[in-house]
Amino acid sequence: MDHFTSLETLLLHADADEAESAIAPPLYQTVPFSAATAEEFAEMNAVARHERYYRRYGNPTQARLEKIVAAAEGAEAALATASGMGAISTSLLSLLSGGDHVVAQRSMYGGTLSFLQDMAPRFGVETTLIDQTDTEAFERAVRPNTRLIMIETPSNPLLRLTDVAAVTGLARDRGILTFADNTVATPVNQRPLDLGVDLVMHSVTKTLSGHSDVLAGIVAGRADLVERIWRTHTVIGSVVSPHDAWLALRGLRTLGMRAERQNRTALALAGFLSEHPAVARVNYPGLEAHPQHELAKRQMRGYGGLLSFELRGGHAAAERLIAALELPVLSPSLGGVRSLVVRPAAMWAQELTEEQLAEAGVPFGLIRFAVGLEHEADLIADLEKGLAA
Ligand SMILES: *Cc1c(COP(=O)(O)O)cnc(C)c1O
Repeated sequence: MDHFTSLETLLLHADADEAESAIAPPLYQTVPFSAATAEEFAEMNAVARHERYYRRYGNPTQARLEKIVAAAEGAEAALATASGMGAISTSLLSLLSGGDHVVAQRSMYGGTLSFLQDMAPRFGVETTLIDQTDTEAFERAVRPNTRLIMIETPSNPLLRLTDVAAVTGLARDRGILTFADNTVATPVNQRPLDLGVDLVMHSVTKTLSGHSDVLAGIVAGRADLVERIWRTHTVIGSVVSPHDAWLALRGLRTLGMRAERQNRTALALAGFLSEHPAVARVNYPGLEAHPQHELAKRQMRGYGGLLSFELRGGHAAAERLIAALELPVLSPSLGGVRSLVVRPAAMWAQELTEEQLAEAGVPFGLIRFAVGLEHEADLIADLEKGLAA
């Protein structure tokens, strides 16, 4: 298979198993496997990442998912987990020790920020949060005990970019590991490992599985790092179910087509919205008006299916628009076949004030639009009608 390198083909063939004649991958819904002899059993226990021993250690359906994502990201190895947060927390618990320091972005997935700000300090790990659009801020935040830099680009929900090559360059010079959340971009649009990152992760729940019916995560990179994370994983136990791994595999077969279509539709919606008089601001890296569009062109092949925007009428107008839209469903996820829309500030309205949200960089009236696979003309017509209301 080594001579086939295009993503579409790898997504279909990178997990091929010569000994298996079933065209669709078998679903191994089992926890333990049997051994023929005591010696074989002892060997299964000793081999790292054995696929046929006990499910917390591995599973053949999970292994096929790992092969596909490793190939898509250009990684030596991958480890699938029960959720995106499972991949993040297991990796960080594996790579960090008390006394270590982390540099991370202020604009980042809420669960990652919670882990770094609320949980990691209890284990003696400190984090400095910085503005990802300021590359020098990463350098200024580095300390002698900085062990890891965590990035997410484009970030959610503001679609801000991190200069991946610049950050990995400064990290490498200092022996610091870099860890990238590539959920929003997907490997169709961006491959952080090619830009020097040590580890890349995904919430497989989102665009990789793509149908809003799977909860799973994955971390990919150098085989020695992934094996180290796997050792922690066997005691944390954030294990993906074989059924979710199987559904994720099915979703991944069409990732290329889905992500490209979402790229195209999102660019069209961003263009339409930025010309509409009721819209105050549109965040989408594919727009020439995006302050980091040049960087986006340099490190991305497409700009993804996620955009956000603000209306001149503020949060009240945003709520009216969301209520008037017929196609996108009000929901907090992204990357599925149906378009989803949400006002992120509304999700935290019970916990945070408008001022606290502004501090976290989430404008009160911001609308996040996660593009699905509906026809672009129907989505634009829906928005047009909703904005007129
Ligand atoms: C959803 C998401 C996560 C967490 O993934 P789960 O599968 O929900 O645990 C992490 N990072 C980003 C960018 C996400 O969108």
